[in-house]
Amino acid sequence: MKTDIMGVLFDNFTVADTVEKAIQALDSKKPFFIVTPNPEIVNIAIQNHEYRDVLNSADIVTPDGIGIVYASKIIGGEIKKRAAGFDIVKGILEKLNEKSGSVYLFGGKPSVAEIAAQKISEEFPAIKIAGFHHGYFDDDAKIINDIKSKKPDLLLVCLGAPKQEMWIYNNKDILNAGIMIGAGGSIDVLSGMTKRAPEIFIKLNLEWFYRLLNEPKRIGRMAKIPVFLLKVLFKRGLKK
Ligand code: UDP
Repeated sequence: MKTDIMGVLFDNFTVADTVEKAIQALDSKKPFFIVTPNPEIVNIAIQNHEYRDVLNSADIVTPDGIGIVYASKIIGGEIKKRAAGFDIVKGILEKLNEKSGSVYLFGGKPSVAEIAAQKISEEFPAIKIAGFHHGYFDDDAKIINDIKSKKPDLLLVCLGAPKQEMWIYNNKDILNAGIMIGAGGSIDVLSGMTKRAPEIFIKLNLEWFYRLLNEPKRIGRMAKIPVFLLKVLFKRGLKK
C-alpha cells in the first residue's frame, strides 16, 4: 500500500525493510533505485510533474523528514515513521561490508567524496571503494564511463534534489550499478564535514531544528515546510 502525499507515492517501509529489499535486489543484477523525499522534494514535485514521475518510478520511495510523517497523519495515511536517507545508506554499507561489496561515491564539493571514501574504508574495511567523483561537472560522460567500468554494488548520487534523482533516472540503465540512491547531504555527513544531529534530537523528531541551528542559512528552505503542510491540509479539505 502506497501513501499518496501531494502526488508522490510513498512506501511505508522502515530503514531495515529498505536495506533488506535493496540487498536482495543485488542478486537480480538489475538497477535498484531508491529515493527518500522530504517536504522540500515533494514541493518541487508539486510544481514539476516530470520530477514527480521520476520519484514515483523508483523501486522504493521512503519518507525522509518528519514533515512527511505529519502530512501522512493529516490525510490518514500509512506512514508512521521516517526512514531517513542517511540511515538507509549506513544500513546498506553495513550489509555490503559483510558481503565485501563495493561502493562508488558521486557528488559533493571537490575532495568531499574522496574523504567520505576514506572514512567508509576505515569504518567498513571489507568494502571496496569502486571510485569517487565530486558533483561539480560540465560533462558527465567520463564519470558515467568510470562508473560503468567499476560496476559498483552501491552508487551514492549526492547532487542535491532534483538533480540527483533526475541524473539517476536518466542514466540508471547504462551504469552497471546495483543499488542507486539520491543521497544529498549524506556525503557531507559521511566525510565528517557535517555532523548528524545527536540521537536525542533524532528521537524527539527535532533533527530539522539541529540542522537549522548549525546551518542558519537553511531557514529559507525550512520555511517552506509549514507551507507544504498547509497545502496538504488544503488538499484534504477539498476532498472532504
Ligand atoms: N551538490 C553537488 N553538485 C551540485 C549541487 C549540489 O555535488 O551541482 C552537492 C552539495 O555539495 C552537497 C549535496 O549536493 O554535498 C547535497 O546538497 P543539498 O544541501 O541540496 O542536500 P540535502 O542536505 O538537502 O540532502
